[in-house]
Amino acid sequence: MTILDGKALAAKIKEQTAKTTAKLAAEGKRQPCLAVVLVGEDPASQIYVRNKHNDCVTTGIKSLMHTLPADTSEVDLLNLIDSLNADDTVDGILVQLPLPKHLDEKKVTEHISASKDVDAFSAYNVGKITLGRGGFKPCTPAGIMRLLEEYGIEIAGKECVVVGRSNIVGKPMALLLLAAGGTVTVCHTKTADLAYHTRRADILIAAAGRADLIKDDMVKEGAVIVDVGMNRKDGKLCGDVDYEKCAAKASYITPVPGGVGPMTRAMLLENTITAYENH
Ligand code: NAP
Repeated sequence: MTILDGKALAAKIKEQTAKTTAKLAAEGKRQPCLAVVLVGEDPASQIYVRNKHNDCVTTGIKSLMHTLPADTSEVDLLNLIDSLNADDTVDGILVQLPLPKHLDEKKVTEHISASKDVDAFSAYNVGKITLGRGGFKPCTPAGIMRLLEEYGIEIAGKECVVVGRSNIVGKPMALLLLAAGGTVTVCHTKTADLAYHTRRADILIAAAGRADLIKDDMVKEGAVIVDVGMNRKDGKLCGDVDYEKCAAKASYITPVPGGVGPMTRAMLLENTITAYENH
């Protein structure tokens, strides 16, 4: 069994990003810039935003932080996005989700200019992925695809089972696997017999957000297992997969932490560089 080491690959991608920004600086060019908007004081969001900021700083990407109070009006938030959309020195815009309840996430996400939508949550960018027309790819599924590629894992012709159908993970994951030639099944809470599907998977992507949902008797011998889940069990971070037992059957598996999480962050940096290059 081989561990799919997202931490190591993310470090390589960050190194590459730092080289790119250092070259731009040496040529006297403008620094790539990511604007991150945080509304309110959700503790998890504060940590995510801080990590993104630190990733930018260490790789030479300019990080513009906009921290707004929880009672910010929709008009004020949309005005801020308008000004970032119009700002030629800003390449990527990310509004940290979830937003406070009085703000319409769909409306806010759609307000970000498609060319700066480095999270790739907008209908335009999702549509481009669906049609196979390039564009930004959402960071988590993009990071998983990169990890599979790094380890030489073939997708074409494989049975790929994705557990979870969210707009930010499950659905785009299924689309990217399909585009790579996988035969894709998407499972969710209405799936009648989850284990029937997961047992058929050559490549199993667990993105349900339920600790220990995937047991070893639900996994095929030799499967590639990617665990997206980030759950807390007895205060400890864990994924959706019963790791020790499933790892014994898997050919490849991602650890939690150190698998998908670091890759998600690395893809945000790459999308920001792409936005800069397309600017
Ligand atoms: P989400 O929006 O809550 O979606 C969860 C999906 O899983 C839903 O489609 C749900 O089905 C399905 N599901 C839940 N319980 C299930 C069960 N018992 N059997 C089958 N399907 C089930 O979550 P998300 O945003 O996609 O995130 C999923 C997990 O990944 C979370 O733990 C999250 O923290 C983690 N995550 C990690 C990263 C990273 O970088 N590592 C990034 C993003 C998310 P229904 O649609 O029927 O409700």
